[in-house]
Amino acid sequence: MKYHEFLILHTLHHAEKGQITGVFMMKELRNHGYRISPGTMYPLLHEMEEKGLLKSRQEVRNGKRVRIYEITEKGRIALEEGRRRVEELCRELLEE
Ligand SMILES: [Zn+2]
Repeated sequence: MKYHEFLILHTLHHAEKGQITGVFMMKELRNHGYRISPGTMYPLLHEMEEKGLLKSRQEVRNGKRVRIYEITEKGRIALEEGRRRVEELCRELLEE
C-alpha cells in the first residue's frame, strides 16, 4: 500500500466519524507522528472530492472561510475495501 493510499484511507476513516477540515487532518496526522504540509493536505482533499470520496462546502468560522468535508457513499465503500486490504496485509505481518 502506497503512502498516498494510506493518507486517503486515514482521511476517510476520520471523515466517516464526522466532518473534517484540512487543519483538523493535519493535526490528526501529527498526533500519529506524520508531518503533512498544507501543500500536501489540501490537494489531497481536493483530489478525494474530485474522485467522489468526499463532498465539501464552505463555512465562515470566526470570520474565516473554512472548507468542511464529509464522506460520501462512494467514500464509505472505498473505506471498507481499504480496511479489508489493510487487515489482510497486517494479518500476514503479525503472524510471522
Ligand atoms: Zn487518526
